[in-house]
Amino acid sequence: SMHQLTKVYDMGDLRVTALKNISFEVAAGDFVAIMGSSGSGKSTLLNILGCLDRFDSGSYRLKGTEVHRRGDDELATIRNREIGFVFQNFNLLPRKTALQNVALPLLYRRERQIDLQRAASMLRRVGLGDRMHHRPMELSGGQCQRVAIARALINEPAIILADEPTGNLDSTTSADIMALFVELNEAGHTLVMVTHEEEIAAYASRTVRLKDGEIFAEEHRQTHA
Ligand code: ATP
Ligand code: MG
Repeated sequence: SMHQLTKVYDMGDLRVTALKNISFEVAAGDFVAIMGSSGSGKSTLLNILGCLDRFDSGSYRLKGTEVHRRGDDELATIRNREIGFVFQNFNLLPRKTALQNVALPLLYRRERQIDLQRAASMLRRVGLGDRMHHRPMELSGGQCQRVAIARALINEPAIILADEPTGNLDSTTSADIMALFVELNEAGHTLVMVTHEEEIAAYASRTVRLKDGEIFAEEHRQTHA
């Protein structure tokens, strides 16, 4: 839940107000799409939701915790426990295999073998059972995207945040990824994704439209596309 949240990027001479008095609520189990033109503040909003960035005024409560009162370490702990983040550019480690990339953020490390088994089952779940030992360079864009999603899911986060999860993917691969998101949402995960495609936003139950750092429209849908 966000209340009157403002984010200013201060670059000395130039101050960019990326978010202006944003108030909105994401309930547990929601599936929200954030839309808006380039520079409207979508990634900024997602980064703040994901506790990857701080804000300047207003408040943000994540599961009852006032985020702005927490120190960096505490924030990192909340983030690791509660949130899975799918980055627009995947952020995979190039020298590690798909399996190693997915196992990387595992929180409560057990034996290496058990960690790798968990990562393997997550990769099978996103349809990459036959690509475990490939490195990012040896995978297609859609496959990298699915590795990034598997990595975001490895700690079974309650909240999944995805920045353009289908950016640069063909429509078949996009539909596969959206089917996975719908399945996760039906299993009780909260999803917030940024997209510029209306067909992708149609999978969400709610669309929030940003313009110049402000919410200017919000739509609800009854069912998944
Ligand atoms: P896109 O669709 O192009 O990804 P966006 O909606 O995600 O756009 P943001 O990345 O949130 O937009 O940026 C919002 C505004 O904040 C832009 O005007 C941008 O130039 C500015 N901005 C974003 N990140 C920074 C930063 N790290 N430092 C300074 N200004 C920034
Ligand atoms: Mg962006």
